[in-house]
Amino acid sequence: MVLHAPREPLRLEEIPVPEPGPGQVRLRVSACGVCRTDLHVTDGELARPKLPLVIGHQIVGVADDGRRLGIPWLGWTDGTCRYCASGRENLCEAARFTGYDLDGGYAEWVVADERFCLPLPDGFDDVSVAPLLCAGLIGYRALRLAGDAERVGLYGFGASAHIVAQVARHQGRRLFGFVRHGDEDARAFALDLGCEWSGWSDELPPEQLDAAILFAPAGELVPAALRALARGGPVVCAGIHMSDIPSFPYELLWEERSVLSVANLTRRDGEELLALAPQVPIRTEVEVFPLEEANEALERLRAGRIRGAAVLRI
Ligand SMILES: [Zn+2]
Ligand SMILES: [Zn+2]
Repeated sequence: MVLHAPREPLRLEEIPVPEPGPGQVRLRVSACGVCRTDLHVTDGELARPKLPLVIGHQIVGVADDGRRLGIPWLGWTDGTCRYCASGRENLCEAARFTGYDLDGGYAEWVVADERFCLPLPDGFDDVSVAPLLCAGLIGYRALRLAGDAERVGLYGFGASAHIVAQVARHQGRRLFGFVRHGDEDARAFALDLGCEWSGWSDELPPEQLDAAILFAPAGELVPAALRALARGGPVVCAGIHMSDIPSFPYELLWEERSVLSVANLTRRDGEELLALAPQVPIRTEVEVFPLEEANEALERLRAGRIRGAAVLRI
């Protein structure tokens, strides 16, 4: 399913099977998760996708040598810059991203740099494990940046939050779920996943939060979340794109509250989450679409009509 220009539907096409270059592996793709970032790419909200492009960066498949591997968003880094050299390869300025700079997994075949592929845990089928590769990883990194916060607010209950909620509960944290005003299904979903309270994103929780994680790409949630925070708490913005943040009074930030963003992932994030997944154990809820219905899956995601994560079965 090929993107030729932003704001156009993906087109089903026959393209040559890619040949792996030096250091690359080729995977026969079996599943690829659908991420909100895919929508930002197809909508032209991210500046510089390669075109034409195969999107998709939560790829599960079998390599030519028979290993089952996952391919995440971080597809290549230079390994030498000041970020790479200090354990922050997620910030590498030369990084290349799967399904953005590199062809991704809305396809039957893909090639990837072997050093950035992740071995996948047993006990998860291909479709169930796919959402861990971005929704899970980014959520996990966001949770790490929330520090040791006990009372965690999750804003936007989509693919990421439904995984992170399980990890956070496993770690003994208390959860408060915030969903779009009036979305009763999402509210019930948040409670099912272990939130002790769930309400609308413009509401205040019954207690102050020690940290808030924003998965919804809506800038107005930043001041709303700051309002809900206890002193010293961070608001962690987990998305790659967000609408403008409205101005707000300094007193919302005062008392050492902070606002920060999560960018991309490191391989260490991947290894840690995939080791943790069977221990929790994480159970992903997925809606499965055939590859040729990728546009439909994206539209459902845009409309907020996916419960858990959408995954293409190839
Ligand atoms: Zn680098
Ligand atoms: Zn993603």
